[in-house]
Amino acid sequence: MPTPEVHAKLSASSAHRWLNCPGSVRLTADLPDKTSEYAEAGRVAHALAELRLSKYFTPGVGQKAFEQRLQEIRSNPHYAPEMEHFVGEYVEYVQELALSFPSPPYVSVERRVDFSAFVPEGFGTTDCVMIHGKELYITDFKYGQGVEVEAQDNPQLMLYAVGALLACSLNYDIARVHMTIVQPRAGGIKEAEIDAAALLDWAEHTVRPKAKLAFDGTDELHSGDWYRFCKAKATCRIRMQEAVSAVEDFGRRAPDLLSDAELGQLLHRLEPLVRYAEAVRTYAQDKLMTGAAIPG
Ligand code: SF4
Repeated sequence: MPTPEVHAKLSASSAHRWLNCPGSVRLTADLPDKTSEYAEAGRVAHALAELRLSKYFTPGVGQKAFEQRLQEIRSNPHYAPEMEHFVGEYVEYVQELALSFPSPPYVSVERRVDFSAFVPEGFGTTDCVMIHGKELYITDFKYGQGVEVEAQDNPQLMLYAVGALLACSLNYDIARVHMTIVQPRAGGIKEAEIDAAALLDWAEHTVRPKAKLAFDGTDELHSGDWYRFCKAKATCRIRMQEAVSAVEDFGRRAPDLLSDAELGQLLHRLEPLVRYAEAVRTYAQDKLMTGAAIPG
């Protein structure tokens, strides 16, 4: 089963957070990791995708070994039959991409990439790397359906691409990088591209300084939509202040009854507070489940 990037302090999958809020690395360093049903289902779906693509691209994978592995995956409690269809959409996308070139491309599935030249101890695993001529293709499979993921300016994809670019620089002269998100259950296929030179420039001038700050344990905290997977999202004081301030100055003027127009605006402004309240409730419930007390 693919393992999550638990060992990288500055992982590609959390780059959106640590690039925007470098202090979150220090703040969350001692907080326990938490998994979820969704994360486990995602891991099983990735294992299935890896198996199917490995069989397709690696002639040496025998039918018996394939069937055995397939049985293992299907007996996982987080496996669901509907997974076959969604994984199939991703697999089909990668196969069609490979067939779109006039000659067979280089393909690597579940490829570990190292971007520690820019991010201290930075590495990750990218779902599929493909190279043809001067073009590099990074494809990332997302099984989640809660949050639609964009390909444009996606630092996770960009860091994977940086790692792949560095790894293949001896054998290939890559000029252009294509990055794709395949998210069958939300958003479908999203594509972005960038010149290899511009990507390396981003790594040097944007990523390197932020990664150093984050790795060194800066106090610099910035609240924003990157909090979603932050382990401190219930207990971070800045996040709490931002959520509360969204409504504290709202509608202080007369008359005594709020108008429909005001209520419409209020609904929007309450959203961050509602999400924050859910995070706090979940945090408190998790604590209570471990036998700890939440005073009051
Ligand atoms: S909750 Fe937001 S502001 Fe607080 S550490 Fe996490 S990302 Fe930074």
